Amino acid sequence: MAARLLEGKFFAAEIKKSVYIEVENFKKNQGITPGLAVIIVGENAASKVYVANKHKACEELGIYSEVIRMAETISKQELLEQIASLNKNTAIHGILLQLPLPEALRNDEAELLKAIHPDKDVDGFHPVNVGKLATGQEHLVPCTPAGCIKILELANIEIAGKHAVIIGRSNIVGKPMANLLLARHATVTICHSRTVDLPSITSQADILIVAIGKAHFVTKDMVKPGAVVIDVGINRLADKKLVGDVNFEEVKEVAGAITPVPGGVGLLTIAMLLSNTVKAAVLQHNTKNS
Ligand code: NDP
Repeated sequence: MAARLLEGKFFAAEIKKSVYIEVENFKKNQGITPGLAVIIVGENAASKVYVANKHKACEELGIYSEVIRMAETISKQELLEQIASLNKNTAIHGILLQLPLPEALRNDEAELLKAIHPDKDVDGFHPVNVGKLATGQEHLVPCTPAGCIKILELANIEIAGKHAVIIGRSNIVGKPMANLLLARHATVTICHSRTVDLPSITSQADILIVAIGKAHFVTKDMVKPGAVVIDVGINRLADKKLVGDVNFEEVKEVAGAITPVPGGVGLLTIAMLLSNTVKAAVLQHNTKNS
């Protein structure tokens, strides 16, 4: 294997270590425990696992965590009332609405996310936070792209001046990723399903971020020798095996550094949620926390 392996567990541990210190400082200075509320609607099996992992991670770092389980049949109005009550709850500093929502609420997603107070929006999906990120005023930033940046920073990989190519333009990964890289002075290209001759663009990337949702999509002929490859994708194969969007076995032979799946970006997403929760608590109490 030629590439340096960027294992998520080392970076996640680093982030959790500093979050733990921030939590302790906040408790000492303010006499308050940072609190996260996660709302889960319905019975999506994968969402239940994610929510349980988030709860466990909060407990490990001394963050108060509340899981609010709501029936699949809940109305938009009831959900809005729940969010409004959490917005007012001073024990809760971060609110996360677990996605995807059940089919019947899918069209209300934007309105529901907008109902979360921007200062408690630990997922960074509120239009105010999206706008702040787009205008270079990072506030609460989406956890997965923030985790990708942390990997690059903690691995001492230079971003400024590099050509970063992102495959995927979703609101939760691709677009915020582009803004975060731009703010760190990369030259950024965003590709998507209508991009013509994708390999000719990806093979120019010094940093290639892949967030498509298609198993083994990126092959070695699409990667510039020595490039840093960050694989955000999580795909379950028919045999239940989890794989990324990158064909790891062949790309690791040409890349300079690569994240594995599982064990890569996914671990950073939860760590950044914890980091955002403490950040939100500090912001709401208008304190420096040192
Ligand atoms: P979306 O489905 O919202 O977006 C996928 C993007 O990929 C779209 O912009 C789409 O283009 C683009 N795309 C699809 N097919 C192609 C193609 N053939 N060529 C080029 N671009 C293509 O996915 P998400 O951004 O939500 O997630 C992407 C992946 O990341 C998924 O596997 C998801 O599970 C994973 N994920 C992992 C997380 C983690 O914690 N590690 C967190 C969030 C997501 P277009 O816009 O034109 O349709």
